[in-house]
Amino acid sequence: MTKRILVTGGAGFLGSHLVDRLIEQGHDVICLDNFFTGTKENIRHLLGHPKFELMRWDVTDHFKVEVDQIYNLACPASPVHYQYNAIKTVKTSVMGAINCLGLAKRVKARIFQASTSEVYGDPDVHPQVESYRGSVNPIGIRACYDEGKRVAETLFFDYHRQNGVDIRVVRIFNTYGPRMHPGDGRVVSNFIVQALQDQDITVYGDGSQTRSFCYVDDLIEGFLRLMNCENFTGPVNVGNPGEFTILELAEQVIRQTGSKSKIIFKPLPSDDPLQRQPDISLAREKLGWEPTVTLEEGLKRTIAYFKAVLENE
Ligand code: NAD
Ligand code: UDP
Repeated sequence: MTKRILVTGGAGFLGSHLVDRLIEQGHDVICLDNFFTGTKENIRHLLGHPKFELMRWDVTDHFKVEVDQIYNLACPASPVHYQYNAIKTVKTSVMGAINCLGLAKRVKARIFQASTSEVYGDPDVHPQVESYRGSVNPIGIRACYDEGKRVAETLFFDYHRQNGVDIRVVRIFNTYGPRMHPGDGRVVSNFIVQALQDQDITVYGDGSQTRSFCYVDDLIEGFLRLMNCENFTGPVNVGNPGEFTILELAEQVIRQTGSKSKIIFKPLPSDDPLQRQPDISLAREKLGWEPTVTLEEGLKRTIAYFKAVLENE
């Protein structure tokens, strides 16, 4: 059945891929974005589409729309961007959640929250399961993002318990793919852009910290399954359990781009988690979901995207 769906942060990396999938499925989509980190380029192909509506708006300001489903993705996701204005990041997570939940309550929409593996902080349980409560520094430089997202989860579950709002909460692990912002400072985009320009590859720390990288198409499939699954709120981890050190990632990017870049080491930012890997047993059980795109294939597609972006600059 055709639904009216609001996607906040719909002009961003993940949001624009989600909007594409929803439009393909025949839904009417409202994309709400203030273009802080998102761009019109990500959604330009949809402008003028009869099923697509763009709303330039800040999610921290009150708004009213009539919809059946809400995906709340509005929030800068890269450390460089979320630390640029830390107070605004907290406001976006917390006030954005309150505005979206209030709307969901009024119009009886099902509402989805893009939470994050950062709720686990620098974890001492590995791999991370949903029942793990995390190890977050509440006053560190990542706290604006981590704690903002934790409060958002709290609000989602309180609106659910107190007002019966129909919620879905996903904890997203590091995701990469086309439409990442070339300058957003995240590791995959940084390494690929550096490699394609034969610049030094900047590994922070000694590169032994780990991350697990999920290709965007796999992630969006997980979003859709969770949103449309009955009687399951989450939180549920969605990510790729393939775990790599950052040094291994640098070497693989150099190999796949055939770059002449050299690896250099820079100081590790504070509170940078040492390890991160999702336990996806719950997603497998409840959603029948698991990732299908290998790191090599995902990097190939992402490298092709950045090559085209850099050639057009
Ligand atoms: P992104 O920065 O590309 O997208 C965020 C979007 O939200 C942008 O279009 C931005 O302009 C918009 N936005 C930011 N503040 C806003 C505000 N106040 N009002 C309206 N719009 C606003 O990041 P992304 O990678 O697409 O992340 C999307 C969501 O997924 C975020 O909530 C992020 O926390 C979450 N997430 C992403 C990852 C990942 O690896 N990409 C991992 C964990 C969680
Ligand atoms: N990183 C790096 N070089 C870079 C960018 C990031 O070594 O140019 C490291 C960063 O210190 C972290 C990991 O790569 O350990 C992932 O960083 P990212 O900002 O992509 O996401 P995070 O998972 O830390 O939020």
